[in-house]
Amino acid sequence: MDSRTVALMRTTFKAVAAEEGGPEKLARSFYALLFTDYPQVRDFFPAALDAQRDRLVKAIGYTIDRLEEPDKLLPFLAQLGRDHRKYGVKPEHYAAVGSSLRTALRAYAGTELWTDEVERAWQEGIGVIADTMMKAAAQEDTPPYWTGTVIEQREVLRNLSVVRLRLDQPMQYAAGQYMSVQIPARPRMWRYLSPAIPANPHCEVEFHIRGVSGGWVSPAMIGHTRVGDQWLLGSPLGGLGVPRNTRRKMLMIGCGTGIAPLRAQLMAMTQRRSNPKVRLFVGGHHPCDLYDLQALSDLAAANKWLTVTPVTESDENPWWHDESEHTAAELPGLAPRRTGQIGKVIAAEGPWKDHDVQIVGSPSMVQTTKFRLMAAGTPTKNIRHDPLF
Ligand SMILES: Cc1cc2nc3c(=O)[nH]c(=O)nc-3n(C[C@H](O)[C@H](O)[C@H](O)COP(=O)(O)OP(=O)(O)OC[C@H]3O[C@@H](n4cnc5c(N)ncnc54)[C@H](O)[C@@H]3O)c2cc1C
Repeated sequence: MDSRTVALMRTTFKAVAAEEGGPEKLARSFYALLFTDYPQVRDFFPAALDAQRDRLVKAIGYTIDRLEEPDKLLPFLAQLGRDHRKYGVKPEHYAAVGSSLRTALRAYAGTELWTDEVERAWQEGIGVIADTMMKAAAQEDTPPYWTGTVIEQREVLRNLSVVRLRLDQPMQYAAGQYMSVQIPARPRMWRYLSPAIPANPHCEVEFHIRGVSGGWVSPAMIGHTRVGDQWLLGSPLGGLGVPRNTRRKMLMIGCGTGIAPLRAQLMAMTQRRSNPKVRLFVGGHHPCDLYDLQALSDLAAANKWLTVTPVTESDENPWWHDESEHTAAELPGLAPRRTGQIGKVIAAEGPWKDHDVQIVGSPSMVQTTKFRLMAAGTPTKNIRHDPLF
């Protein structure tokens, strides 16, 4: 795609998305057109589309922002294509989605903005995206999805569970990747989760799940999950990871369940002969929110290259917390706990110019922390995080 094509796509999308209620209208129009013209596609989607609409527009925005970085975008699209095999999508479905998206954009962009040249740019752009996804899907010989049987479910905090599954066949995900997951109580509502342990010969996967208040799926993952349940897992996605033999120091920052993909990487690194120095900051609101400190303290105590620093916004636990449980201060192998907003605490030690940085947590935490690090002089190109949708 040449830069003119990319610029035309970007300008039209930004213009539509910048309007009051624009993203919502675009997504509504897209799904209405898609389901009217191609009713057979409706079965791929959940009954309630509200969360889906938001994700669609964010995913388009994410793709458009990276059109001029093919080395990043093409592997992402290839992963997405492999993941979409779980729906049983066929080339005609890609054509249906492309055509409905163009029609929806044309309707909202208006005739002044939507020229013939813009139409051709979108046709070409959507073609490249669909071809990349279809080709990757066609070349893949792993299963379109895996079945995982729940073998353990533990509530480690109010509203936060650790769920372990045994897969029906091995999945070679890289530590730090994530995957889409569907639970029996919420059919067709796939959500991303990040394994907290590396791929292993026992085919076990561990997820750490926080129940998002008002969410469709995560409260059910915690409240409705029983040993013996069968979950479906899509192909692995994402590119967080520490390359073998790298000498670059690492700065890892995880809040809440964001610790999961970082912990998986650290566990995988313990199997290597040598590792760069890693600073891990693990954050929460209260000291008692740091649910995984025992495992992290064990990892730090056994591996000299790793330093783990807990950070909490509040110095105190809430009144209802049982104070007999462990808190950061009591565990060996950990640096002293800091108090403050995590991005601010870490940026104050910056600028971390000689570190590669990974940030994992809620979208707002990732954005705030990234901003703080950039403001402190950390080069943007050194900061990585998963897509925020
Ligand atoms: C790459 C990636 C990896 C992820 N890994 C994990 C993981 O390992 N463990 C885990 O528990 N979750 C993880 N998530 C989040 C998870 O995929 C779901 O988005 C989350 O569980 C909410 O789903 P829901 O159906 O309950 O809420 P939805 O019904 O989808 O959303 C309900 C409302 O909550 C908001 N919302 C959604 N997520 C959050 C959030 N994290 N914080 C605040 N508000 C939110 C939405 O914007 C919406 O307004 C990951 C997300 C991504 C993108």
